Formats: sequence, structure tokens, C-alpha cells
Amino acid sequence: MTSLHGKTAFVTGAASGIGRASAIQLARHGANVCLVDIQEEGLNQVKEELERLKCNVIAVTADVTDHVSMKSAFHQFQQWGKQLDILFSNAGVVGLLTPIEDMPEEEWDRIMTVNVKGAFLTVKYAIPFMKDNGGCIIVTSSIHGNRIFNSYGMSVYSTSKAALTAFAKTAALELARYKIRVNVISPGAVETGLNDHLVRSDELSKVIIPVEYPEGKYPFGIGHAGQIADLVTFLASEQAAYISGTEIYIDGARSLI
Ligand code: NAD
Repeated sequence: MTSLHGKTAFVTGAASGIGRASAIQLARHGANVCLVDIQEEGLNQVKEELERLKCNVIAVTADVTDHVSMKSAFHQFQQWGKQLDILFSNAGVVGLLTPIEDMPEEEWDRIMTVNVKGAFLTVKYAIPFMKDNGGCIIVTSSIHGNRIFNSYGMSVYSTSKAALTAFAKTAALELARYKIRVNVISPGAVETGLNDHLVRSDELSKVIIPVEYPEGKYPFGIGHAGQIADLVTFLASEQAAYISGTEIYIDGARSLI
């Protein structure tokens, strides 16, 4: 079993879905966890869950798009007195699904700001806390950043996620000198708050070009946040010490159809 005892993680988007599940899994493997999200109430609920696991945890309400807020989040982390070993830059939004000609400019800017600038600020302000001791950064992209054929109506989300993959790979190159590994994970459809309504109502099939495939659109079904959390935990562990600069699809073959 992977041991993360003595390690400390900083997780954004920790109040729900993949971030919450990953925080729980990292805690189960012994890590201390700093939970970060814009949703204070959800964050406090996850904090209580982690405390029940006897995890050493703090919760910081912050907006990843705001440099003042993120500087303050890292300041609170510093006050906690832990070495930062694992950064999971995961906060993200899907936004409006609509053809490009109908996409409002403000919506384009909002999604790019949360998904891309948010990751930039998170990684930027984490580097000073990691560069002396090395560590690992995991960025959440999406299969939509690369497998565009099923992204009809998702221009801004797909663009933001493609940008994140390039960003993470650049970071892997730049930060190797500090022994910081950087990887990007690209989940397929995972049942979380982000797309709950879409998955349940099958509204996605109205905007995604239907694909003829004998096993349907999801050969291995819809993913669970815990499955993504297992990958995050592995990438954070010593077993992944030689893995950096890689994009890992975790999508039950969804990107192949
Ligand atoms: P989610 O909505 O359950 O969680 C996203 C979290 O990010 C929320 O808690 C939200 O409050 C937080 N957040 C949003 N904007 C923020 C901001 N400005 N500052 C701080 N926190 C903010 O969704 P999820 O599915 O767990 O999404 C997590 C990541 O996984 C996202 O980057 C998403 O794009 C990606 N992803 C999800 C799926 C999926 O099918 N669910 C697939 C591929 C990639």
C-alpha cells in the first residue's frame, strides 16, 4: 500500500467531486491535507470528514482566479508549518455548452480564467514552497482537451483543458531542476457536481455528436471520483518517482470512440 505518511498535500477544488475524493484518499494514505475551494460550506464538510479519518487537515477558502486570494491561501499554508510535497491543481468549471457562434464573450473569459489562470496562479505560488525539497504537482485536464471529436458545444472547456496540458508539460520541464515532478490527468466522464445533471439526464447526448458504438458511449460506464483519486494518490507516491511530464487518460476507453 502506498504510504504518504509525513507528506503534505494542497488540493484545490477540494469541496466536492474529484478534489474531495482525492483529499480523502491522500488522507487515508497518511498525508496531511490543506483543502482549498471557493465554497466554504462544502470545504468545512470535507474537513470534518478528514478529521474523522484522524487526518491533520486545514481548510482555506480561496478563489483560484484571484492572486490576492491565492497568496493568502499559501500564507495560511505557511502558518500551518508544513513542507509542501503534493500540489493537486484541480479546481475547474465546465461552463456553458453551446456552439461557438452563440458563446458569450464573458462566458469564454470566465471559464478560461478559472481553468487556466487558476492553475497558473496555483502552481506559481506553490513553487517557492516546493523548490527546496522537491515534490509532485498534478493538474486536472480532461479528455476534452485532446479528443475534440466529442466536444461539440464545448469550445471553451476543451480549449481551457488543452491549454492546461501544455501548461503542465512546460512546468514539468521547468521544475525538473528542483526535483518537482509534474503530470496532467485527463479524466473522461466522472459523476461529480460538475456534470451531475448532464450525466443523469443524458443531456450530453444532445450536444455531443452521437457516436455509434456497440457498448454505447461509455464502454466501462461512468467513472467515479474515487477512481480518479486512486490515480492521484499513485502519482503522488514514491512508486511514481520516474513519472513526470506525462498526460494520463483515465476514461474507461471513452477517448477511443
Ligand atoms: P466539481 O464541480 O464537483 O468540483 C469542482 C470544484 O472546484 C468545486 O468544489 C468548486 O467549488 C471548485 N471551484 C470552482 N471554481 C473555483 C474557484 N474559482 N476557486 C476555487 N475553487 C473553485 O467537479 P469535478 O468533476 O470534481 O471537477 C474537478 C476537475 O476535474 C475540474 O477541473 C474538471 O474540469 C475536471 N474534470 C471533470 C470531469 C468530470 O466528468 N467530472 C472530467 C474531466 C475533467
